Amino acid sequence: MIFIDGFTAIIIFLLGLSVGSFLNVLIYRLEIDKSVFKGRSFCSQCKTTLGWLDLIPVVSFVLIKGKCRYCKKPISWQYPIVELAVGFLFFIIANFFFVDESIMSLAQTIYLWIASSLLVVIFVYDFKHLEVPDILVVLGVGVTLIASFFGKITLSGGILQALLGTLICAGFFFALVVISRERWMGWGDVKLGLFLGLLLGWQKVLVAMFLAFFIGAICGIILIMVKKKGMKSQMPFGPFLVISTFIAIFFSAQLINWYLNILYL
Ligand SMILES: [Zn+2]
Repeated sequence: MIFIDGFTAIIIFLLGLSVGSFLNVLIYRLEIDKSVFKGRSFCSQCKTTLGWLDLIPVVSFVLIKGKCRYCKKPISWQYPIVELAVGFLFFIIANFFFVDESIMSLAQTIYLWIASSLLVVIFVYDFKHLEVPDILVVLGVGVTLIASFFGKITLSGGILQALLGTLICAGFFFALVVISRERWMGWGDVKLGLFLGLLLGWQKVLVAMFLAFFIGAICGIILIMVKKKGMKSQMPFGPFLVISTFIAIFFSAQLINWYLNILYL
């Protein structure tokens, strides 16, 4: 269902596209260990400084047919995919949470825009490099702790539920890492667990954890069947956690009700 009007929706989608474009820069700078705010954007292949024509989200990628205008080397699909994903996320979040146009729901929407931006970067980085950069977790935990003190801005339901969520999520992953000596799960998942527990609170984070294992298992089986991965090859768990967190952000109430209904039928 769509609650916000068409004009607002378009503005929010365009805002999401631009943020997505910035996040691509952030991912690239994290990869080469450069400051985000230093210097202009340039082609990662030929290092030519890009003009504004090259920097319009999605549009530039289509216009230049996925190739650098200067050196003709292909540009990664990551760029338009991240931009579009963040555009849609910003729209869906506003549609779900900016419901009564109060200051509180505006604050919640902006908080979730920031949190989901960090989650998108974590998704891409862990997917590509099997690693979750500390700075992203520090930012996520910091913003969420501050927001938790204002009650209804995060989704945890309060600071105690948030801290319990972190204890359960990061604690469980910590145990798995120690028991399996990093074979089942990595330290990046423990770090991510700190952020997700605070963001979702203990009830919703349990939903997200369950979903992540479920989706991860299905993808693992499919990948083994099509022989893309062997039984022992490493697969990042962070992307599954991020997808599950998004499902929990939007649908955890329905999922919990559905589950309780099955239990008590
Ligand atoms: Zn180039």
